[in-house]
Amino acid sequence: MDCIFCKIANKEIPSDIIYEDESLLVFKDINPLAPVHLLVVPKVHINSLNDISESNSSIVSKIFELIPQIAKEMKINETGYRVISNCGKDGDQTVEHLHYHILGGRKLDSSLG
Ligand code: AMP
Ligand code: ZN
Repeated sequence: MDCIFCKIANKEIPSDIIYEDESLLVFKDINPLAPVHLLVVPKVHINSLNDISESNSSIVSKIFELIPQIAKEMKINETGYRVISNCGKDGDQTVEHLHYHILGGRKLDSSLG
């Protein structure tokens, strides 16, 4: 499958990985929009939020259990941060492999769109 995040998960292309376990990967966004800009990515290929269902939603729990740990490690847990998952064309999703952006390290704009 020609999916850039599957390739990153399979170590076929390099990335700046800051956390890895058997099911999840966290790496730095190649085009950071904030001092801390990480992507939390399941190793299993899921296209987008639209494809989350009862059969695979346990990965979403794992992602949201991991996020506060990563925030603490990056020292943004107290100052705060934003978690975003873009979905589809109108959501401006550019990589069709489910991922959650973690943005922090500065005061973010209040606009969401
Ligand atoms: P989205 O637009 O929500 O689908 O987010 C995709 C994100 O992946 C963008 O913020 C890109 O900068 C980022 N990205 C694309 N290719 C890579 C890569 N090879 N390594 C790290 N981040 C990437
Ligand atoms: Zn993929």
